Amino acid sequence: MLQLNCPHCQAILSVPPSQAGAISECSRCGGKFLVPVPMARSPEASAADASNHRAMDSEYRDFVDKKLAAGICGILLGGFGVHKFLLGLNNAGLIMLAVSLSGLVVGPCLILPLFGPAIMGVIGLIEGIIYLTKSQDGFYQTYSVEKKEWF
Ligand SMILES: [Zn+2]
Repeated sequence: MLQLNCPHCQAILSVPPSQAGAISECSRCGGKFLVPVPMARSPEASAADASNHRAMDSEYRDFVDKKLAAGICGILLGGFGVHKFLLGLNNAGLIMLAVSLSGLVVGPCLILPLFGPAIMGVIGLIEGIIYLTKSQDGFYQTYSVEKKEWF
């Protein structure tokens, strides 16, 4: 039997496959509708799907594998944005690196810019801890799918 929804009342109907392509009548509301012909899945389409799925899978695994490394880099080297480069968040990584480096270069002459690397270091530390405490799924969703740049 084919399972389909009545287009009029949304009732779930079972229709014999012999009616595919023919007009049928809903047993609940009496509305008439065309029974869709089930699409035979071509072997090529199934193969493409399977390889898509594999690509998705290995992309997921590769990304999740970086969770620990990114967390540790964030905690130890946070101010240099290494953990962001690891996750492909290059813009945010560059910002952290630039703020930290400019602070290191200008810092010795002025007290204020020293706060730059310190603040970036704290941000990195917090982000590292967030990475480590996230679930693998949450980590993948947040930083690979949504590409969240900060925290
Ligand atoms: Zn109906």
